[in-house]
Amino acid sequence: MTTTSIWTEANRLVHDAQRIVVVTHVAPDGDAIGTLLGVTHALRGIGKHVDAAVDGGVPDYLRYVPGSEAVIKQLAEGQWDVFISVDSSDEARTGDSGAYARANSRAVINLDHHITNTRFGDAHLVIAEAVSAAEVAFDWVTQGLNLPLTRDIAQSLLTGMVTDTLGFRTSNVKPRTLEIAQTLMAAGGSLTEITARTLDSRPYDSLLIWREAFETMQLEDGVVWVSIPYNAFERNHVDPAVELNLSEFLVKVDEAMVAASFKQEREGDIRLSLRSKPGFDVGSVAFSLGGGGHKQASGATLYGTLEEAAAQVVPLLKAAVKNGMLDIR
Ligand code: 5GP
Ligand code: MN
Repeated sequence: MTTTSIWTEANRLVHDAQRIVVVTHVAPDGDAIGTLLGVTHALRGIGKHVDAAVDGGVPDYLRYVPGSEAVIKQLAEGQWDVFISVDSSDEARTGDSGAYARANSRAVINLDHHITNTRFGDAHLVIAEAVSAAEVAFDWVTQGLNLPLTRDIAQSLLTGMVTDTLGFRTSNVKPRTLEIAQTLMAAGGSLTEITARTLDSRPYDSLLIWREAFETMQLEDGVVWVSIPYNAFERNHVDPAVELNLSEFLVKVDEAMVAASFKQEREGDIRLSLRSKPGFDVGSVAFSLGGGGHKQASGATLYGTLEEAAAQVVPLLKAAVKNGMLDIR
């Protein structure tokens, strides 16, 4: 007997495939890499040839995730039956590797947990209630494909669960989130190692940039924000790709419901990173700016000067503060 579920189409595509490529989003975080490798290990376990790729490769602090060493930095050869995109809410986020995978694969599975997902695949495993893409992958692997959890799968997926929930502290964490984490720990995932290497670790270089950013900090009408000019990286001899996570820190400010960091990546190109307290929606602000994300964590790329970017975005954030209500029950 076959029953139709959200997994049916993706299972069929995977079962019929020999060669699969999994790609996650540019500037990958722990959920991106954890889900990329969790899915990769699971599908290799059933005898598939699986390539895993992300533009620029795995960030240093995530190299402990098993299988990182074989992740392809720039996909430039190969053909696949199926391309699985993980944790990318739109196709542009899959980067050059995603574009190559799309052009050289017969079908696309879109596995994600963003409410702003644009459903760019042929089969969609998109669950906006999931705390992480790793949770969607966990459900697919264990309930959809009915595969056993190995230590490598567990360590990978637990990385995604821990990082996207900031250590099980976000407002979307449910009893089942902790049940999944318990299952992954029982299968060999190390909560201690994951926490130490992700949430409790940051390069000194990032603090050199924080120091510059704090000089620019402003607080108005429940919005706190900072701006980081490109020359801050040059002055401090810091790689502009360093992970800052500054808005994540700023949103702790008691007087702020919304936090923003504007980072100039090069002339005319600004990365916006947004965070909000529970009850306030910055996801739709980012989406309206051509980016995306979640209610409480989102981002976009803007063009222009830092001043122009702040002048455009801060009023939208003040409106998001007005339209929300703190919900920390
Ligand atoms: P971060 O502030 O850590 O760079 O991004 C927070 C979240 O916002 C990411 O996990 C991702 O879900 C989303 N996000 C950030 N930038 C973009 C973007 O340019 N496009 C889309 N679609 N989502 C983004
Ligand atoms: Mn995620």
